[in-house]
Amino acid sequence: MLTIYRRHRKSCKQHARGRKYRHCQCPIWVDGAIGGNEIRESLKLRDWQRARAASSMLGAESTATASALFGLMGQSAARKSESL
Ligand SMILES: [Zn+2]
Repeated sequence: MLTIYRRHRKSCKQHARGRKYRHCQCPIWVDGAIGGNEIRESLKLRDWQRARAASSMLGAESTATASALFGLMGQSAARKSESL
């Protein structure tokens, strides 16, 4: 299950409204799990419809395909190994 939300920039006037507010132009992030791996990554999109399409594609595809498409798991794995 993947959730998308806007990660408001500090300069955003809607910053105080939190994740649920999405009628601004802050970058959209995805949060959830693909194939048992937790992810929290920027989709590098600001368009809500496109972000929804991207997140549903991520959720539907296998981990390997999602990794190939977006490099999400690779980034997450790299970050985890660095912090160990
Ligand atoms: Zn915002």
